[in-house]
Amino acid sequence: MREKELARFLSTYDGPPLRLMEVCGTHTSSLYRSGIRQILSPNITLLSGPGCPVCVTPTAYIDKLVSYAMTEGYKVLAFGDLLAVPGSRLSLSGARDRGGRVDFFYNPEEGLAMAAKDRQTTYVLAAVGFETTAPVWADLVKRAYDENIGNIRFLTALKTMPEAMDILARDLHIDGFLCPGHVAVITGSRPFFHLAETSGKPMVIGGFTPPLLLRALSRLVLEASRKKGGFWNEYPSVVREEGNPKALSLMHEIFEAGDAVWRGLGTIRGSGLYISGKYEFLDAGSRGLTEDVMPKGCCCASVLTGRMLPQNCPCFGKACTPDHPVGACMVSGEGACSITYRGG
Ligand code: SF4
Repeated sequence: MREKELARFLSTYDGPPLRLMEVCGTHTSSLYRSGIRQILSPNITLLSGPGCPVCVTPTAYIDKLVSYAMTEGYKVLAFGDLLAVPGSRLSLSGARDRGGRVDFFYNPEEGLAMAAKDRQTTYVLAAVGFETTAPVWADLVKRAYDENIGNIRFLTALKTMPEAMDILARDLHIDGFLCPGHVAVITGSRPFFHLAETSGKPMVIGGFTPPLLLRALSRLVLEASRKKGGFWNEYPSVVREEGNPKALSLMHEIFEAGDAVWRGLGTIRGSGLYISGKYEFLDAGSRGLTEDVMPKGCCCASVLTGRMLPQNCPCFGKACTPDHPVGACMVSGEGACSITYRGG
């Protein structure tokens, strides 16, 4: 079908009501920016999933970074959006206001250059992300090791998506999934094929341009309305069955899988990536950061699992705005609350 017909199909759909999850934060924002979310039939509800790495990071991780920032001889470097995420007591920008040493980077490589220049300071890099960014972090760890930069450490909160989706897919309130296209470029389509087999629900890998989104979403609506499980790759130009072997091999060399805490989902077995083997001394204590204190009134846990739409949180747009975020989902440009506030 052509794009106009696909758009008409999605806007006039009058089949059984469907609750579909777009797992990836970039999908959430692309669906808003393209206007596709706004034209959907009232019988189609899109739920945003846990695919925003900053949003699913537990407070214990922020607290650990804050404690490094406040320790003599250390400096914390992170992506800008992580600075505003509330910890149990302070955010990183709050720590900086109190004299903590915190800075942000646009590209994590800047951290390597800073550490190489200033050997008197130990630089702690906040490595947050999913399979999409894990190869970049793996490459940096390897370079720090190879270039003998001994004053750098990585605090990782790297997570893998299929394990989280496996839990969500068992949930009866979700009828199908728009699978994360960028993640699938790295992992390949196999994990999502497997999820479709085990859950019996439709799983569709989609791209990010309006034509690709229309294709993937129409496929998902069609199959979910027929109550038909299965797997479809609607992003075949870049997603292959085997993924990116070079990136996967680098990730396997540097990281090993371990349990990780996801905001809203709790501890998920084998869903974290931790620096291992001869590189392990470069880790800043990333394992066992389990405490996750939700700010008072914040419903991020429900939003991230698709049990609540952002606008239904009592804090949304009142106590919680992008300028004064209460929870992590209002901080990141990929957070469902922030996207809904700005684009909804
Ligand atoms: Fe949390 Fe704010 Fe979103 Fe409510 S609107 S769930 S407080 S981030």
